[in-house]
Amino acid sequence: MIYLKTDEEIELMYQANQLVGQTLGELAKHIAPGVTTLQLDKIAEEFIRDHGATPAFLGYNGFPGSLCTSINDQVVHGIPSSKAILTEGDIVSIDCGTFLNGFVGDSAYTFCAGEVSPEVKDLLKTTKESLYVGIQNAVEGRRIGDISNAVQVYCESKGYSVVRELVGHGIGKHMHEEPEVPNYGRRGYGSLLRSGMCICIEPMINLGKRNVVFESDGWTVRTKDRKCSAHFEHCIAIRPDGPQILSSFKFIEENLGSNAI
Ligand code: MG
Ligand code: MG
Repeated sequence: MIYLKTDEEIELMYQANQLVGQTLGELAKHIAPGVTTLQLDKIAEEFIRDHGATPAFLGYNGFPGSLCTSINDQVVHGIPSSKAILTEGDIVSIDCGTFLNGFVGDSAYTFCAGEVSPEVKDLLKTTKESLYVGIQNAVEGRRIGDISNAVQVYCESKGYSVVRELVGHGIGKHMHEEPEVPNYGRRGYGSLLRSGMCICIEPMINLGKRNVVFESDGWTVRTKDRKCSAHFEHCIAIRPDGPQILSSFKFIEENLGSNAI
């Protein structure tokens, strides 16, 4: 069942998602070599609570953090830890969720700690670009497969590979609603895009092969070949006049300085 949102509900989703953007923006000030992902998690949790919301990931299916923090070859769902210390040249994908006024916000960005190799920086740039290519296809009357195919073709044409095991999703009062939004697929297939649908588009793109491994901690997903992976996510609403991005990278990129992607 796909729940179409009213204008009022989309406004509430916008507020929840803007808070995610602000939280990621706050984190952007702190990401540097020497920082642990647990420190980042505490900053995010405090920031979210100070703004009258709750961290949507904390306790979700038992997840122990307010953020998912995934370093280098970790694709998604990394658990914040005092042992996970960022070092010069690392990338860290940070996925953040808020629960505000009955609705969920959900967005992710891959950050650089210090100076990252040009090869990895290009992976990040391509993954972020593919997100916007996907969003351009999120138009009323088209299909989920149009978004999926656009992301896949864009990334594969540049030599990267698309993770199959994890996908984007519908969102609203619950973090994961129908439909699924894969980052691979066929144009013209999948659910029809209708005005009022809210979905998260979230390419997870690998430098090497597409295969992933699920770690024994029950959460962390990493690349099988141990090469880097990037993850960018926006929450959007399908509107009569085109896609509306409800989340925001503006707050992040204001604070990134020379580390902007
Ligand atoms: Mg997310
Ligand atoms: Mg998501």
